Amino acid sequence: MATPDFPIPAELAVDDEPFSLLDLDLYLDAADAEEADELGLRIIPEHVEGWRIEDDAAAEWAGRHLSLANAEVQRLTELAAEWQARIQFWLLQQTKRPRDTVAFFEGHLTDYALRVRLAGGARTLTLPSVTVKTTEHKPAVQVDDDEAVAKWIGDHCTLGDYERAFGDPALPETPLWPVLSKATTKVYVAPLRKLIHVEEIDEDAWDWTATLACGHEIGGTVPIPDDFDVPSRGDRVSCAYCPEIESDDPGTQPTSATSTVELVVSRRRKHLAAVGPNGEEVPGTFVSARTFDASVVPR
Ligand SMILES: [Zn+2]
Repeated sequence: MATPDFPIPAELAVDDEPFSLLDLDLYLDAADAEEADELGLRIIPEHVEGWRIEDDAAAEWAGRHLSLANAEVQRLTELAAEWQARIQFWLLQQTKRPRDTVAFFEGHLTDYALRVRLAGGARTLTLPSVTVKTTEHKPAVQVDDDEAVAKWIGDHCTLGDYERAFGDPALPETPLWPVLSKATTKVYVAPLRKLIHVEEIDEDAWDWTATLACGHEIGGTVPIPDDFDVPSRGDRVSCAYCPEIESDDPGTQPTSATSTVELVVSRRRKHLAAVGPNGEEVPGTFVSARTFDASVVPR
């Protein structure tokens, strides 16, 4: 049976109500005072304390009061939820600008702290009202092809490597592979790291950038030994960043602008690699780049 929207008045359930809600209030107040161990006069309505339900009419009367009280709890709960939603919305609105301001200055502070650190300065920028911590994430070896690493271990690693990595001599019959794999094809990176190290490997290529007289910068990569393809100071080269030159002749395509090379910087291309005991790159692995991040700790 659905609960009626308007509960049936309780007093209509019985000829004479056993007690009024006022009496019930006094009784519950006294119970509260007792619970709180408060001293003082407690009026305990005896007819409430001694009351018990003797027939269905009285039970219905009690049920109606229960429903009414439940409805009141429900009404206040819904009201509170509505207020909470409005307070939350108000809070989001009111804090938008200060939150954006925090993000703005946080961005500038972390950028500055990272530049200071990368220039060889302190790891933590400590000022009277703010501390900016920077964290270095060192290059780490990751396995992206377990089978390739497994094959490499089988082909390249000896029991001597095991002894160097783990500090105790393995029994001659101890195969190295189960130690690193626990009998699955999944490689356990932690013991693997003891067999390998991270090294910067030269690649057979140059990365170059050239600063042009127009102010633009161009660049590229050339494989060794084709490094004569790198432009030299004084060369005239086309600049893709300058506006194209329109021709006076209708129907003629515009030509790209040219500029003079002022400065060339070229660098041997390198990458970080996991290297095994014999100096060989370990297949199936990659090395995550060294990164830095920073966080603001307000005072
Ligand atoms: Zn240009």
